[in-house]
Amino acid sequence: MSHAIDLVVVGSLNADLTARVQRHPSPGETLRATELNTSAGGKGSNQAVAAARLGARTAMVGRVGTDAHADVLLNALRADGVDVTRTLRDGDAPTGTALIAVAESGENTVLVAGGANARLSAADLDAAHSVLVEASVVSLVLEVPVATVVAAARAAHESAARVVLNLSPVVELPPDVVALADPLIVNEHEAREILHRNGEHPPGASVTDHAEALCRLGARSAVVTLGAAGAVVSENGHTRHFPGPAVEVLETTGAGDAFAATVAWRLSLGDTLATATRWGVRVGAYSVRYPGTHPSYPTCDALSADFP
Ligand code: ATP
Repeated sequence: MSHAIDLVVVGSLNADLTARVQRHPSPGETLRATELNTSAGGKGSNQAVAAARLGARTAMVGRVGTDAHADVLLNALRADGVDVTRTLRDGDAPTGTALIAVAESGENTVLVAGGANARLSAADLDAAHSVLVEASVVSLVLEVPVATVVAAARAAHESAARVVLNLSPVVELPPDVVALADPLIVNEHEAREILHRNGEHPPGASVTDHAEALCRLGARSAVVTLGAAGAVVSENGHTRHFPGPAVEVLETTGAGDAFAATVAWRLSLGDTLATATRWGVRVGAYSVRYPGTHPSYPTCDALSADFP
């Protein structure tokens, strides 16, 4: 079946307000920041931009406020060709905001105010029905209400779209929703947290064990990302490691989103999960060589120029 949309992302959009400071303030202390930048972020918006920049026909389902931050986000998504007609403006809540302080030591602290993201509802998915039914793949991230993610997974399944579930941050989901994840994508810490919650984390277990255990918990397939070491994929009883290219790292923020978006896009084109993961580790590695999230994501041409 041909689809008018490769990828629908259901998830969060945040304005990232990044202040550079000499050191982090103690409780009650006021310090001067040396620099302040506003940029587009949030896991949903990151994934939509990463996929669209690679060439995916992408739509974003989410909520922003009616403030100036909403314009920053919507303009950033539009600039990369993301369809934002199903990204709703909410007059009763501010745009989600992450307050990030980066100290000279490189250590970050982050405060996230969910704002309009917390008001993305199952009814909003009904309003987005016409794009959901056109999608080859629906990507879900967990910075929006769990009930909405559950409804989105079920709606995607009903319209025969493939569900890519990036369970970040980790939350409890009903078994029938976990069973739709193809793949479930998590990093190593998230994998351990899920397995620990389910009493499935024997000491000394390897990442291969983790990926296989995620499938035993019900996911159709599972991908565990490993930072510089690439990713491990478990599917149909087989587990394989996919190393990424060795690179000089500048900043890893948003690498996980670049990886997940790339896998979702390649799956939408009919690639196997193994091939999609090979693409994912290349794009993840590309992104850690640049600062920020959106600015660190490649076009297809830039990717093939650097990692032929
Ligand atoms: P983040 O929270 O920083 O966005 P994450 O913890 O969700 O990332 P990681 O496993 O750190 O996810 O990274 C995702 C993918 O990005 C990895 O599978 C890999 O392909 C790539 N990547 C991350 N860090 C590096 C690195 N240091 N060198 C090369 N590739 C990297």
